[in-house]
Amino acid sequence: MNSMYSPQLLDHFQNPRNAGDLPDSDAVAELDNPVCGDVIRLGLKLRDGHIADVGFKAKGCVPSMACGSALTELVRGKTVEEASKIHSDDIIVIVGSLPQASSHAAQLAIDVLHAALAKLESTERLYPPRQNSHLR
Ligand SMILES: [Zn+2]
Repeated sequence: MNSMYSPQLLDHFQNPRNAGDLPDSDAVAELDNPVCGDVIRLGLKLRDGHIADVGFKAKGCVPSMACGSALTELVRGKTVEEASKIHSDDIIVIVGSLPQASSHAAQLAIDVLHAALAKLESTERLYPPRQNSHLR
């Protein structure tokens, strides 16, 4: 498998960043991918409008686990709005390159990110009532 993947991708696979479930996530999402049975679970912790902590668990093919790890590096410290703009190309930059046959891995990571962000946005703490919204 070594020749198929970039050194960066293999590094993320072998040394996943932010691996494991967060004990006190504000939002958790889990998605699977029928292409090869990959599963990524992503937990986000929000503090002061920024994603203060992130954790992931993944099983499946090598690229899926590497893309899950790369995703956590991308979202940490970002605002929800910034995180919502992360693109699968951003993940591919971090893992160096992704074989065309493995593009589903970056897409799965983006999909689980959006699912987790949607859960965050449904929490009231993100959008506290605006005191002046009824005033002109
Ligand atoms: Zn896969």
